[in-house]
Amino acid sequence: MSDDCSADNGTTRTGLRIGSIFIILVTSLIGTCLPIFLRSSSFVPRWAFEFAKFFGSGVIIATAFIHLLAPAFDELGSECLSGTWTEYDWAPAFAMLAVYCIFFAEVAAYRIGSAKLAKLNIQYNTSGPHDEFHTHPSNIHEHSTSPQNVKINSPRVEKNLDVENGLSTETSSESDTVNQMASKSEAVAQLIAVAVLEFGVILHSIIIGLTLAVNDQFTILFIVIIFHQMFEGLGLGSRLSALILPRSVAWSRYAAAVLYSICTPIGVAVGLGVRESYNGNGIAANITSGILDALSAGILLYTGLVELLGHEILFNPRMMKSSNLRLTYIFVCILLGSGLMALLGRWA
Ligand SMILES: [Zn+2]
Repeated sequence: MSDDCSADNGTTRTGLRIGSIFIILVTSLIGTCLPIFLRSSSFVPRWAFEFAKFFGSGVIIATAFIHLLAPAFDELGSECLSGTWTEYDWAPAFAMLAVYCIFFAEVAAYRIGSAKLAKLNIQYNTSGPHDEFHTHPSNIHEHSTSPQNVKINSPRVEKNLDVENGLSTETSSESDTVNQMASKSEAVAQLIAVAVLEFGVILHSIIIGLTLAVNDQFTILFIVIIFHQMFEGLGLGSRLSALILPRSVAWSRYAAAVLYSICTPIGVAVGLGVRESYNGNGIAANITSGILDALSAGILLYTGLVELLGHEILFNPRMMKSSNLRLTYIFVCILLGSGLMALLGRWA
């Protein structure tokens, strides 16, 4: 990176830069869609799914620290900026702001959701005899606000898989209503959580696309970004595949995968279009990408540390009771994801 504040963009290898749009699109789609395609197939062993899932958790955490927070410090600490920007370290402040926004939103969603479900439960209890099986507001709620907490082998999920496959064995119309409400609110909450995750990775994807289009070091950056997008796609895809969705909105998994996959290609295309005038080191570009990177860093830090490490492992009794071997395997997967993504941070 050049230290001056003027545009200094690469104009060589235009053909390959255009070709990179399609190559990155395809490799991102492969990385993101693979876990979704394979989720329902029985020939993929459990360890492979766990690998994708926890490797993905590692990728998300490293993305927050290495690919978002570090550049946010760089951009908001740029020598091109002046005034207030130079008097304070804004990057961690924006990241902290994002953490609290996500936290408050989650608390609000939890409270509104539990109030709704509690109401339903009372109505059901007054007339229904087998409430124990059907309505567990706290249990339902745990899943509806922490979708990543969903376990393939939990009874709650099996029940929902039945709903998704249209194999529901419910007979009472009232319990159906409760079930529908619960699965509907779960689906909505899960979609929101993945949308938040997606938002965090999307901005970075666009920015590295822009960088690839205008950067002098094209070849090395191109190779790195292919892996970058595949790893991150794997992380996002394993989250998308873990979503328990009603059949009617099952397509949203693929919509989210496609949305993620087109971001870097769009960034490259835009970068190629405006490369004569685009100045990645200008004041406006520094402030915009710095703030967005810092906010995304906060979002992914919260998701990675609270949802993926906290809820999924530490506060998950099933996980904490599993064998040392399994936990070691999971730690290795997480560290591998974080390590590889941190290594890629050397270039992109
Ligand atoms: Zn990156």
